[in-house]
Amino acid sequence: MNIETIAVHGGEREEERQHRPVVTPLEQTAAYYFKDTQQIKDFYEGKLPGIKYGRYGCPTQHAAEKKLAALEGAQRALLFSSGMAAFTTAILALTKKGDHILFTNDCYRNIRRFFSEFLPTYGVNSAEVPIDDLDNLERYIQDNSNIFFSELPTNPFLRVIDLEKVVRIAKKGGLTAIIDSTFATPVNIRPIEYGADVVLHSATKYLGGHHDLFAGVVAGSSGYIDNIQQYRDILGGVIDPHTSFLLLRSLQTLHVRMRAHNENGLEIAKWLEKQKHVERVWYPGLKSHPDYELARKYMSGFGGVITFLLKAAEEETSRFVDALRIPYIATNFGGPQSLIEQHALLTFYRNRDYAKKRGITGNLLRYSVGLENVTDVLKDFENAFRILG
Ligand code: PLP
Repeated sequence: MNIETIAVHGGEREEERQHRPVVTPLEQTAAYYFKDTQQIKDFYEGKLPGIKYGRYGCPTQHAAEKKLAALEGAQRALLFSSGMAAFTTAILALTKKGDHILFTNDCYRNIRRFFSEFLPTYGVNSAEVPIDDLDNLERYIQDNSNIFFSELPTNPFLRVIDLEKVVRIAKKGGLTAIIDSTFATPVNIRPIEYGADVVLHSATKYLGGHHDLFAGVVAGSSGYIDNIQQYRDILGGVIDPHTSFLLLRSLQTLHVRMRAHNENGLEIAKWLEKQKHVERVWYPGLKSHPDYELARKYMSGFGGVITFLLKAAEEETSRFVDALRIPYIATNFGGPQSLIEQHALLTFYRNRDYAKKRGITGNLLRYSVGLENVTDVLKDFENAFRILG
């Protein structure tokens, strides 16, 4: 089946339900009862299907997990209470004391912090691999390296790695290849098709798609996922029933929303690139992006996040942001409302030097393209650019 049909029906038509609802019901409960002691015994002996306690999962969640596995082309998927819960639980499940992790250098700040500040206290070290040096990945692999991690595309410069090649090198070195595909979604790329072992998402972004829920996804083969599930059961960062219901509903329109984000994103990025006050635009669908050819090879659309640099000082950039009327000033992406952030301020206010070293200067903006009319968005930009003369 094609991705649109999977998004609508995947994971949801497998069970005969008592009242035959078209929509998978929300069972808002933490606890599940047994009618008598015999049922407890039958449950443990595999004769009675069902759930013992909500931290181990619930029916709405299971439907969403099956849909996500089908969308990613994975054997299994697990849902978590946030993208960070998914990421940290998966990494903890797949590493032990003495291991070494390689990760690409353009990535979400808290992912980097987990690798470089938290894991060393548990005896796990890591090294950053510059994206532009991935051809030499082999040289970074040590005897104890066991994980390669990259976002695809990356945050905030939307870099696209040569997935097939990188996965081949990682696997040859005995590493598990983990891809955070939050910026792409399974509509734009399915990393497992190119050999990735585990795929992660912050479902808070496009998968949830409405700026109204927190969730995270881990998908892969049963071997990986069964192991990660044991850690989720203990660490407890599981999604709750109501959020599962909202996410399941969102996933049914993922392909339609992504099509609009992709189209609007490309049109706005092309337009921005032509503006006299814009120094540079990073968007993988632009020929000027360093990874344009790779993006065309691996992605069927380029998403709705545009990073761009103004020819302006930090204060002028803030005035430009404040003059915009359509986007909210907020740090997320993937919802109907466009968002804008002056990354160095909203995300790195307390770590300005660190941000600067990574090219995140006061005039760098990240725009999350929403689902508004593009002409309106461009008019809004035009008005705000007047501030810059
Ligand atoms: N992965 C990426 C690429 C992200 O951008 C984020 C959050 O911004 C996360 C993971 C963490 O997700 P969450 O905020 O849902 O915990």
